[in-house]
Amino acid sequence: MSDCVFCKIIASEIPGDKVHQDEQVTAFRDIHPVAPTHILIVPNKHIASINELTSEDEALVGHLFTTARTLAEREGIAESGYRLIINVGPHGGQVVYHLHLHLIGGKKMRYPMG
Ligand code: 5GP
Ligand code: ZN
Repeated sequence: MSDCVFCKIIASEIPGDKVHQDEQVTAFRDIHPVAPTHILIVPNKHIASINELTSEDEALVGHLFTTARTLAEREGIAESGYRLIINVGPHGGQVVYHLHLHLIGGKKMRYPMG
């Protein structure tokens, strides 16, 4: 997707504070962090949202979560805890239409949401 900001970060066409990249996913720091750790983990292939997932993507989605786990350990927040969020569509608050998993931690989260 030539007009997708996350595709451009994945391809290093625009700057992004990348913390991880492999053949399936890329992780980079959110430009407007809401907590000391705020990382976005995205599939390298353009998938607009959870609504566009197919059964062929199941291993990829699993890898998004195991990458979140690994990065939480690396950030030193695995024990204190963190929040994983995927926003979907207008009511979900999705702004960027390239599927992304927010990894947020380093402070106590507020709850309930909504
Ligand atoms: P959403 O609301 O779609 O779940 O979250 C989109 C997130 O992407 C927001 O937290 C926003 O700060 C972040 N974001 C938007 N544009 C950029 C960008 O160009 N670079 C980075 N690193 N993050 C971005
Ligand atoms: Zn994209």
